[in-house]
Amino acid sequence: MTLPVRVHLVQSDTMPDMHTTLVEADVRRIFSKVNMVWSQAGIQFEIEKIVTTTAKPLPPEARVKLEHDRVHAMIPKTSLSASALDVCYVKNVKPNGFYYGEPVVVKDTASLKEVPDGLDEPLPRVTSHEIGHALGLKHRQDTVNLMASGTTGFSLNEAEITIARAHAQERLAKNGKRVLQDDEAAKHRGGP
Ligand SMILES: [Zn+2]
Repeated sequence: MTLPVRVHLVQSDTMPDMHTTLVEADVRRIFSKVNMVWSQAGIQFEIEKIVTTTAKPLPPEARVKLEHDRVHAMIPKTSLSASALDVCYVKNVKPNGFYYGEPVVVKDTASLKEVPDGLDEPLPRVTSHEIGHALGLKHRQDTVNLMASGTTGFSLNEAEITIARAHAQERLAKNGKRVLQDDEAAKHRGGP
């Protein structure tokens, strides 16, 4: 099954940590490897579009304690997709990436501990790992697997494949419903 993704190259003139230097060719390369990783679960990701999303600085009075809340607050909600999985690349956050609800956030400076038969670069692995969380997977600390923290391993076990596929199926069903609802709304407005 194929899930749509919207990739955000987060930009900022004033906040270097919120300014990725990745370009479209990097994103295409990263996702070809993400798809290699996820092929073991029969799940593929299709880039719906690659957008540049300008981070908005937090107002000085904003008190956001948690790193992921702070980063999420700087990403404008209006640029997020209603149906595709949003993946945002930034330059620097504390962890390599995180998923606390959408969007997935990955830093382009991510680094990992290399393990035998691991992926050859960190970004596809971190992206695949965070997508794993988005598809309902928890950490499993076994060096060669995808859901271990901070390594280049990328294997999934049967239980993880079952969970991820069920989540992916649910996403697709929800998206289907959304499209149908949109059609209904169009009818009521007298549209085509
Ligand atoms: Zn994780």
